[in-house]
Amino acid sequence: MKLYMDCIFCKIIEGELPSYKVYEDKRVLAFLDINPVNKGHVLVVPKEHFNKFTDAPKDLLKDMISVIQNISLGVMDAVGAEGFNLGINNGAVAGQIVHHLHFHIMPRFENDGLNLWTGKTLTEEEMKRTAENIRRSLAKDY
Ligand code: AMP
Ligand code: ZN
Repeated sequence: MKLYMDCIFCKIIEGELPSYKVYEDKRVLAFLDINPVNKGHVLVVPKEHFNKFTDAPKDLLKDMISVIQNISLGVMDAVGAEGFNLGINNGAVAGQIVHHLHFHIMPRFENDGLNLWTGKTLTEEEMKRTAENIRRSLAKDY
């Protein structure tokens, strides 16, 4: 199993750094985000180090998504949230600061003031061309 000694999440996994653990199994660890957007903000990480979402093996991601569903139900129950946002920052340009794959579970409350993203308006032509390009890319085997 890959672990990187200069990675803070690997250090948390190894018990070299403290964390507020909420869940653990063979492949996955979940702990509170140290700087939560709301009470109950949890990070779910694979125990093996992958830099980002697009580097992780598909069988691991399949396992993780059902674990994430359970944890999010538990989080909502525990903090009395009505919903949550599930977030992944994939790459530095997307705001990823810790380069060990992690999913953010961010509980949401009525009028909590969070505004995670705002939309842009593209032209009809840009929308059509973008959709075509994505469909063409997806014909590849990733
Ligand atoms: P990202 O921008 O997706 O890489 O998010 C990294 C997240 O990790 C941020 O929300 C930080 O608050 C959180 N974080 C950084 N260091 C720690 C730590 N030692 N324990 C818990 N969460 C952390
Ligand atoms: Zn790591």
